[in-house]
Amino acid sequence: MAELQDKTLNCRDCQKEFVFTIGEQEFYREKGFENEPKDCADCRKAKKQARRDNWNRKDR
Ligand SMILES: [Zn+2]
Repeated sequence: MAELQDKTLNCRDCQKEFVFTIGEQEFYREKGFENEPKDCADCRKAKKQARRDNWNRKDR
């Protein structure tokens, strides 16, 4: 098995660099995800939050 290393990726949303850590890579591999994350942790969190907000605002 190839040795894992922290990877630096660019967020597609804010273009900021973020680290795809070894721990996260192992987690992805374990889950069978083949793609690397496209968003940094902040954007992912923001998106999750936005989705939750949408739910609450469903009957707008
Ligand atoms: Zn981002």
